[in-house]
Amino acid sequence: MLYFDHNATAPVIREAREAWLEATEKIHGNPSSPHQFGHAANKAMTEARERLAHYLGCHPSDIIWTSGATEANNMCIHHFAETLDEKADVWISAIEHPCVHDSTKHYFGKRARLIPVTHDGVVDMEWFTNEIADTRPGLVAVMCANNETGVIQPWREVLAICQTYEVPFFTDAVQWLGKMPAEGLGECEFVTGAAHKFGGPRGIGFLKAPHKSRVHSLLYGGKQERGQRAGTENLPIIHSMLAALEVRERQMAEGNHETRAEWKEKFERLLLRQVHGSTVVGANLPRLWNTTSALMPEGGQLRWVTRLDKAGFAVSTGSACTTGKEEPSHVLSAMGYKAGQVTQVLRFSSGWETTAADWEALEKGLVKVHGEVHGK
Ligand code: PLP
Repeated sequence: MLYFDHNATAPVIREAREAWLEATEKIHGNPSSPHQFGHAANKAMTEARERLAHYLGCHPSDIIWTSGATEANNMCIHHFAETLDEKADVWISAIEHPCVHDSTKHYFGKRARLIPVTHDGVVDMEWFTNEIADTRPGLVAVMCANNETGVIQPWREVLAICQTYEVPFFTDAVQWLGKMPAEGLGECEFVTGAAHKFGGPRGIGFLKAPHKSRVHSLLYGGKQERGQRAGTENLPIIHSMLAALEVRERQMAEGNHETRAEWKEKFERLLLRQVHGSTVVGANLPRLWNTTSALMPEGGQLRWVTRLDKAGFAVSTGSACTTGKEEPSHVLSAMGYKAGQVTQVLRFSSGWETTAADWEALEKGLVKVHGEVHGK
């Protein structure tokens, strides 16, 4: 079985498992406890905070550990709901993950404005530059890279514009981290990430927020994370996340992701040639090296997914949150795809362990399944 659904969850790597085991066996105190066991746990947590801050380029106290990206994203939007002037709007891109989109709608209602995207799936910079010159939102949120299409968003440009107008900028870096270098992310005021997308364990993520801003906690309870996130920190999985990130950053420093982009590009060329009528979403734009989103020529997406599964390939229909249902993707709808097209999309997302031969096998598998779906 070949796994092409890394954007949903990637397998935990050896280094992350070992780091978890080591921290579990050696550090059993609670970081908030006043004795030596507590101090040792607190010291280990501070060290992990420093390691993440080093990669992002921020102050260690800017890091708040969370249970994952959904919590971190909700926490960020909740914080603005608690602190913004009641007339201020919040602008988010139309292709944000549901945990950003739905929480913004929940807290801000009509004051939530969607930044449109082009047909290729990138934030419409002309719209953004014109609008922000006229009106100042209380917050702008644009993700680093889209989870469904892999299209890289111009987060650095949006950040620079927000800095000019002194508008806080928040980026969901969940699909970026561990696939692209983290460097520079620390300049964004608010950043979120999750370990299970890059070889770390599930159940751990973070919100990077300026330490002077004092984020309003979503949870009531203890005063952990300087009163910003109640609940005992899960030290072993924090260490495990950092071990995985370190491996990924090292692989990127060696340029290993660039070779992998070539394998995917070759796959796309063959797909377009061999499966007549297929199209690659966002084909004209820079995309993550691991992600291909393609509209298949016929047969609903679930039929494709099921047949590919039987043929030995795990692929998805789009975001993990909509898996199991053939429902329109809000991302493709925002890109202007028609109702009939948005249920034709398949997402293939590779990982660091995926080989050139795996991509070739997938291409052959698609040709075979196309024959079946087509009734040959
Ligand atoms: N943001 C993006 C871009 C994602 O792709 C995901 C998960 O797919 C999330 C947020 C939510 O992450 P989690 O389900 O790990 O909380």
